[in-house]
Amino acid sequence: MNEVCVRVALRVRPLLPREVLHHHQVCVRVVPDSAQVMLGSDRLFSFDHAFGPTASQDEVHESCVRPLVESLLDGYNATVFCYGQTGSGKTYTIGGGNLNEEGGIIDRVAQDVFLLLEEKRKNSDGGEAKVGVSYMELYKEELRDLLELHTIHKELHIREDERGNTVVVGAKEMVVTSAEELLNGQCPAPHRHHRNERALQPLPHILTFQLIQCCHSNNSSLKSVRSSKLCLVDLAGSERAGKTGNTGTRLKESVHINTGLLALGNVIRALSDPGRNRSVHIPYRDAKITRLLRDSLGGTAHTLVVACVSPSHHSVAETLSVLQFASKARHIRNRPGTTPT
Ligand code: ADP
Repeated sequence: MNEVCVRVALRVRPLLPREVLHHHQVCVRVVPDSAQVMLGSDRLFSFDHAFGPTASQDEVHESCVRPLVESLLDGYNATVFCYGQTGSGKTYTIGGGNLNEEGGIIDRVAQDVFLLLEEKRKNSDGGEAKVGVSYMELYKEELRDLLELHTIHKELHIREDERGNTVVVGAKEMVVTSAEELLNGQCPAPHRHHRNERALQPLPHILTFQLIQCCHSNNSSLKSVRSSKLCLVDLAGSERAGKTGNTGTRLKESVHINTGLLALGNVIRALSDPGRNRSVHIPYRDAKITRLLRDSLGGTAHTLVVACVSPSHHSVAETLSVLQFASKARHIRNRPGTTPT
């Protein structure tokens, strides 16, 4: 099985109007015509892609997300996760519920999946296909089903199948037949302003497209079935809980999000160690988010990390820590494989 590295895209958002008004200085810039960013005047970081404040949603999608939709149709699992401090542009980048040019990754992936399936059908190399969507959030280390919020206290469980793929047991799957059906609110669609009513701040959430494709081979009546999934994950704020200024319930929520992100940092550190041999223990079990992302980090999926940063000098410490996290993630090697047909 071929090894491929986790790919990392770094996105610097524009200064917001109020930041301009308060004379915030820009402390991080994309080096023109490169995939590098410079923090301050002398710290250079390299990525697979780097997007500056003028990069469009379409540019981000076309250059680094669309290839993962193509992998999905080819039978591979794939994951995109957005990482960055609160206010750095994760929600904007991941999108949801917006089919115009401002639409983010969720919107464009939803459109691409059906477009590419249609193309495949026209070229008669595609058979029947079913697209199922599940949508979850992590609330204080509890995985909740956002498609069944009316069901009181339905906690979901995570396990690994025999091929090393992460499976969420009991998650509701909604069959969708078009991007519009998913995003125009006919079903409990992912929406960019989605907020858990019980939570005081954005929580990590995960939208999964599960694709089942049935094909008849040309010269036989044998049918082959191929199953693959594409997970889109918004990880919520990467800042340290103590630095958020939160108190009470909000602080407790931050601590849980933090436990998850700390565990994620440890998994990435362990996996990206150049001297690591395959038998070294990777602490996936320390948090729900790392158990959930197990097949995306050092596992069987094609993975893209979109790391978002604010350009403001007020965020320089958080930006540095995101750049360091994202640089490490580039060293993680996965071994993608299609499902046997
Ligand atoms: P996060 O989800 O990381 O907390 P948001 O996505 O809510 O951050 O972004 C914070 C603010 O910055 C929002 O007002 C958002 O519209 C704006 N913003 C983020 N990224 C961009 C971008 N690339 N272009 C224009 N505005 C952006």
